[in-house]
Amino acid sequence: MTSVALTGIGELSTQDDELGLLHDAALVVEHGRVAWVGPAAQAPAADTAHDLGGRAVVPGFVDSHSHLVFAGDRAEEFSARMTGTPYSAGGIRTTVAATRAASDEQLAANLARLVDEMRRQGTTTVEVKSGYGLTVHDEARSLALARQVTEETTFLGAHVVAPEYAADPAAYVDLVTGPMLDACAPHARWIDVFCETGAFDEDQARAILHAGRAKGLRGRLHANQLGPGPGVRLACELGLVAVDHCTYLTDADVDALASSGTTATLLPGVEFSTRSPYPDGRRLLDAGVPVAIASDCNPGSCFTSSMPLCLALAVREMGLSPAEALTAATRGGARALGRTDVGHLGVGARADLAVLDAPSYLHLAYRPGVPLVRQTFVGGRLT
Ligand SMILES: [Zn+2]
Repeated sequence: MTSVALTGIGELSTQDDELGLLHDAALVVEHGRVAWVGPAAQAPAADTAHDLGGRAVVPGFVDSHSHLVFAGDRAEEFSARMTGTPYSAGGIRTTVAATRAASDEQLAANLARLVDEMRRQGTTTVEVKSGYGLTVHDEARSLALARQVTEETTFLGAHVVAPEYAADPAAYVDLVTGPMLDACAPHARWIDVFCETGAFDEDQARAILHAGRAKGLRGRLHANQLGPGPGVRLACELGLVAVDHCTYLTDADVDALASSGTTATLLPGVEFSTRSPYPDGRRLLDAGVPVAIASDCNPGSCFTSSMPLCLALAVREMGLSPAEALTAATRGGARALGRTDVGHLGVGARADLAVLDAPSYLHLAYRPGVPLVRQTFVGGRLT
């Protein structure tokens, strides 16, 4: 057995007890897990040591919402949006056409590039959805590719109605809940639905989530992004682990979230990139709702892979304190994936962490846009 001591940690946020802030700390890793954490002066001996030079360390970010299996580029659509064309769910079809036309190798290369980009910005766990194939073959191959890079894979055949079924959405729901689900379930842990005007309504979302559950997949939802709607209430009623976007919420929605314990995942990169009003994170936290922050990295509504940017936006635009934003981007993301082994650095947790070129985690929000992540460790190994 080889143990590694990470020493010279100027400030460590373990996220074990609130922020779990320690100064002049050390952390010992064995078998990829945190074996000991505490004041450097009390650290037990280890086989090798790695001095972090007084830098701040935070748990690796847990990005619980991304769409990384796609081909094509929508920079022109972004440019048009910035000059007045509003975002709508229909833009997804542009990426669907490019994704279907791409080879497995092209999709895998783009996926690997984006995961590496995330890694370099401190993300150590990422959820990846399908949803740009919308045929049995293309959804299944998207998830098989995603499975190569993460265990947190989500079947999102119900992203939008496939173009071939525009005149018969009910037949598309039958496909999603039938042959497409059969082909995708072996590669997925989760099932998701875009429950929004222009995508899928409440009854369709319910049917799709029930079908997924019958195949052993756990449900999550895209809801209340573009306007008020039934999605958040449905997620709470079904006891889903997480419901994502949560931009337009009624008081009843907030009450339902608070009593169900469903995590509200906020995706502020989307509002930034679509020049839309931000969700009110403060209102959710004050009501006792568990909150996560994720990137929603996708080629249409938000093409950032940067959790530090999302964290800074949550502080600047959604009323979170820097401490609350860090928690939402680490432990909150883990909760949104039903995980207890990541998102914190308590004894027994996976030794996933980001070393910041900064004296404190506060710099993540204080210095937006600056590449502060100097090193990322996954399972105790430098990546
Ligand atoms: Zn999304």
